[in-house]
Amino acid sequence: MRADMLKKELEIFTFEDLLEHFPNRHIDKTKVSRIADITPETDFIQVAGTLQHIEVMGEKRGKRLVAQLRDASGVLELAWFQGIHWVQKGLQPGMEYLVFGRTGFFNGKPQIVHPEIEPFTPVKAGGKIFLDPVYPTTEKLKAKGLNGRQLGKLTFTLLEALKQDPPQENLPADLLKRLKLMSRWEAYCNVHFPQSADEHAAALKRLKFEELFVAQVRMQLVKLQRHHSSRGVVFEKVGDYFNEFYNKHLPFTLTGAQKRVLKEIRTDTARGHQMNRLLQGDVGSGKTIVALLAMLLAADNGFQSCMMAPTEILAQQHYNGLSALLKDMPIGIRLLTGSTKTAERKEILQQLQEGSLHMLVGTHAVIEDVVQFKQLGLAIVDEQHRFGVAQRAKLWQKAAIPPHVLVMTATPIPRTLAMTAYGDLDYSVMDELPPGRQPITTVHRNEHARFKVMEFVRDEITKGRQAYIIYPLIEESEKLSYEDLMQGYEQVKSYFPEPKYHISMVHGRMPNDQKDVNMQRFVQGDTQIMVSTTVIEVGVNVPNASVMVIESTEKFGLSQLHQLRGRVGRGAEKSFCILLTGSKVSNDAKERIKIMCATNDGFKIAEKDLELRGPGDIAGTRQSGALNFKLASIVNDKPLLEAAKKYAEIVCEEDPDLSMAKNLQLRKYLQSHKHQGNWSKIS
Ligand code: ADP
Ligand code: MG
Repeated sequence: MRADMLKKELEIFTFEDLLEHFPNRHIDKTKVSRIADITPETDFIQVAGTLQHIEVMGEKRGKRLVAQLRDASGVLELAWFQGIHWVQKGLQPGMEYLVFGRTGFFNGKPQIVHPEIEPFTPVKAGGKIFLDPVYPTTEKLKAKGLNGRQLGKLTFTLLEALKQDPPQENLPADLLKRLKLMSRWEAYCNVHFPQSADEHAAALKRLKFEELFVAQVRMQLVKLQRHHSSRGVVFEKVGDYFNEFYNKHLPFTLTGAQKRVLKEIRTDTARGHQMNRLLQGDVGSGKTIVALLAMLLAADNGFQSCMMAPTEILAQQHYNGLSALLKDMPIGIRLLTGSTKTAERKEILQQLQEGSLHMLVGTHAVIEDVVQFKQLGLAIVDEQHRFGVAQRAKLWQKAAIPPHVLVMTATPIPRTLAMTAYGDLDYSVMDELPPGRQPITTVHRNEHARFKVMEFVRDEITKGRQAYIIYPLIEESEKLSYEDLMQGYEQVKSYFPEPKYHISMVHGRMPNDQKDVNMQRFVQGDTQIMVSTTVIEVGVNVPNASVMVIESTEKFGLSQLHQLRGRVGRGAEKSFCILLTGSKVSNDAKERIKIMCATNDGFKIAEKDLELRGPGDIAGTRQSGALNFKLASIVNDKPLLEAAKKYAEIVCEEDPDLSMAKNLQLRKYLQSHKHQGNWSKIS
């Protein structure tokens, strides 16, 4: 009966599950506060006193059980709105109780709603102090007599029973010694029933380390396995295409980061195993040229390549940029999107199959089944988080031996997140911007100052620059966003009535060809202002644009704001980002705006975003089990994570099959605790 409830309510199926149902806090019975000390600032409190006067008050939905708890200093009101009958049965006026809960004030008097309550037995002086665990539980379990404290009795009994035959140690003995960690068994005992806060902390640290270490070992093994056993085409040489372009047509010197990443790609693709590389580089770090050089490398070795972008606009832009760079080279490159005309499409498909086409740039259209390559050797995916894993998998089914895959993303991911979510991938970071960029100045303005902001925009476009004005896209209310945008567009038009000013508008509801026309007009400088929703968020490159105005900034997330801001500051001119908001802004939004004004560094912003939102919500990360730790947090346990990664690498390097005696139990544990995540390949 109880077992069934535990399964249903808390997913506790085994002894191990119960051992790993960790308390969320401990009660220290020696720490009892005075009721009189409760102030409006008090958060949680533990008090002890005599229960007086219990009474059911109100009717129907207002029905509640109210009791008074009195200690030497004052009176505290306790109230229950649920389980009234059951709670009342368990309480006896005149008895002493220990009460814990979040305090509030009701009619000027201190109150705890739904407190934890139990008979109070004072701690004897000199006795052994145990910190009593309190466990997460559910209302249903409480009603069955398994509240947060009673679960502890089950765990206690289990620990007693296991003493004879405690669970095996998973960590290699030398590692335990080196890191001065307690044994797994000790850690379980102390995490549930510690005798001091320090003991609890040490146990917690040990268990968190194991969690992180096991995950890192798993990823290391996957990575090693892929390196050693996957098949991949071999790009054995750097040939004429690459060299000619590099020596004659490269318009600038590569940054150190670009060179490093190129070298990594070169090494990966020469080994005979499939490359699965994630390239992360902040907006403007120059990923495109790295992609082009990699595609030339493929061509040098007789392979075709394709580059996939999430939108028509981006695909078009990549195509234009790449073909301009390649204009003096004997390289076949074409664009394939949903709006490619039938006759042209036919021609492209034929050239692909003959092998006369070296490079294909496109949107999702390139993964359709009819698109067949003669010898696809490299697939590049730009702005990775817009594509699903399944879509990418389709790309590499287009060749007998899977092509190398390079995924490029401009969403900076904090190092810790990358380590956990992408630890099994080959991972490059471009952490250096091309020289000569001026930092973008970012300011926050109230929307009442819109007129002044528009005057500023006018000054800039008078100097020959261009500006973006962005409206939020609210997923739930597409209609509203659309109306906002239209209204905004009319308003912008009224600010710039002179015939010499031209305004472009782009939004998601627009037919693609119309979108392209408007975008192109802005790209070519025929229009000075681009009014748009976030469709221009990723990748769009108009170096002459120097102002980014964002309307209703409070509705955007941090990384989105950073992406948007990245549309300016791409040329030689000083650029500005103006964040407009109404007067009422939530604290979270204020924090985001503050960070945006303080830094241009995408990695710092990503760190903050992770802190504010937690790992689950960060765009661009896989929704894998990789982040579901029971105890560890990649935000709060960075040093432990670093250590786990380091030692996982050491262990896997020394013993890649985990066949040494000291690693056998670790291997057994990994095998018996299969992971549900879908890592191993980004493609
Ligand atoms: P992103 O990484 O955001 O895709 P892009 O590849 O679009 O960045 O590059 C941004 C701009 O920087 C482009 O105009 C590009 O020509 C320029 N660029 C790239 N690499 C360099 C470099 N090493 N030196 C100077 N300019 C560069
Ligand atoms: Mg780009």
